[in-house]
Amino acid sequence: MQSKEETGAQLKAARRRLDELTAEVARNDDKLRRTQQRELCLLQAEDLESLLNVLVDGLRLSYGLEYVSVVLCDPDHDIRHLLLASGAAAEGFPNLVMVESLTGLAPQYIALHQPWLGAYAGCDHQMICPGAVGVKSIAMIPLTHRGKLIGSINLCSGDAQRFTRDHASDFLAHLGIIASFCVENVVNRARLLRSGFTDVLTGWHNRRYLTVRLSEELARARRDQSGLVCLMLDVDYFKRVNDTWGHAAGDAVLRELAQRIESQVRASDVAARFGGEEFIVLLPNTEVASAKLLAERIRNAISEAGIELPDGKKVAVTVSIGIAEVHPGPGDKDLKTLGDSLIARADVALYAAKSAGRDRVMVEAA
Ligand code: GH3
Ligand code: MG
Ligand code: MG
Repeated sequence: MQSKEETGAQLKAARRRLDELTAEVARNDDKLRRTQQRELCLLQAEDLESLLNVLVDGLRLSYGLEYVSVVLCDPDHDIRHLLLASGAAAEGFPNLVMVESLTGLAPQYIALHQPWLGAYAGCDHQMICPGAVGVKSIAMIPLTHRGKLIGSINLCSGDAQRFTRDHASDFLAHLGIIASFCVENVVNRARLLRSGFTDVLTGWHNRRYLTVRLSEELARARRDQSGLVCLMLDVDYFKRVNDTWGHAAGDAVLRELAQRIESQVRASDVAARFGGEEFIVLLPNTEVASAKLLAERIRNAISEAGIELPDGKKVAVTVSIGIAEVHPGPGDKDLKTLGDSLIARADVALYAAKSAGRDRVMVEAA
C-alpha cells in the first residue's frame, strides 16, 4: 500500500510532467506555425530578388540570427544573368555568394545531404559567409536541384549552442527542401519571362519588353525630374532588300543592324526591336542635342559600310531616325498613355525624315 504522501508526490510529479509536455507542445506548435509562415513567405516570392531577400533578411529576423547567407553554384552564369536582366545585379546582394563550383569553398560541401550543424570556423566558413562577424555556430542547409547539390543556406548565430550536432535538424531539412523548390521556381519563371521578352531573330529585347521598360523609365524620369528621349529607327526601302536578295538576306541585315545599333548605345539605354524593320532606343536622362549626336552616330555606323549577306555579297543599307522627348511631371499619372504618345511623336518625326529623303535624323517639331 502506498502512503498518502507517496501518492501525493507521484501525482505532483505527474502534473509537473504534464505541464512540461503541454509547454513543449505549445513551443512546438509555435515553432511549426512560424516555420509555416516562413515557408509561405518563400513560396510567395515571385522573383529571384524577393526570394533572396526573404531567404537572407527574412530568415535572419525570424530566427533571430546574427547573419544569413545564400550560396548558389551558377557555372553558366545563368542565374547571374537572369538577375541582371530583371534589373538587379548579383553584386547588389552582399550575402549572396555565386560560384562556378562548390569545391574548395567549405569542407562540408563534399557530402552535404542533410543540414550540417556545428561550430563556426573562420578557416572553413569565411568564404560562404562573407562579412559575418561574431558568429559562433552555423547551420548549412543544402539546396538541391534534381538531387544535385547546388548550394546552401547558411544560418549563423552568435550563440555557440544554437547549432550543434546534437540538435534535431528536421525543421531545417524541410526548410531546405522548400527553399530549393522556390529557387528552381523563380529561376524558371525568370527564364520564361525573359524568353517572352526576347526577339528570336536578333536576340534583342522585343516590343513587350520595351513597353514594360518604357513605363519604368517614365516613372523614374518623373521621380528624378529628368527627361526621357525616344529614338525610332526604320530601315529605308527594306522591302527592296527582301525583294532583291530574299528573306534570309533580309534577316541577316536585321541582325547586323541590331549589332551596329547596340555598339553605339550605353548599357543604361534601352534598345529593342519594335517590330518588322523598326527599332527603338530609349535614352534616360539625356538632352535632345546629345540624343541627336548619338542618332547620327548610329546612322553613320549603318550607312558607312555595306552589310555582308550570307552568300558574301554586300548590300548598302540606310536608316531614318525620328526623335522625341518627354519630361514627365508629378501630375502625369497615366504613364501608359504618356509612353504611347512619346512613341507616336517619335514616329511622326521618323515620317518627316522619310519624307525629307531618308538616311537622316529628324527631331520632332517644337
Ligand atoms: P521605307 O523606307 O518607307 O521604310 O520603306 P520600306 O520598304 O522599308 O517599308 P515597308 O514598311 O514597305 O517594308 C518593310 C518590310 O519589312 C516589309 C516586310 O516584309 C519586311 N519585314 C518585316 N519583318 C521582317 C523580318 O523579320 N525579316 C525580313 N526579312 N523582312 C521583314
Ligand atoms: Mg517600317
Ligand atoms: Mg522601312
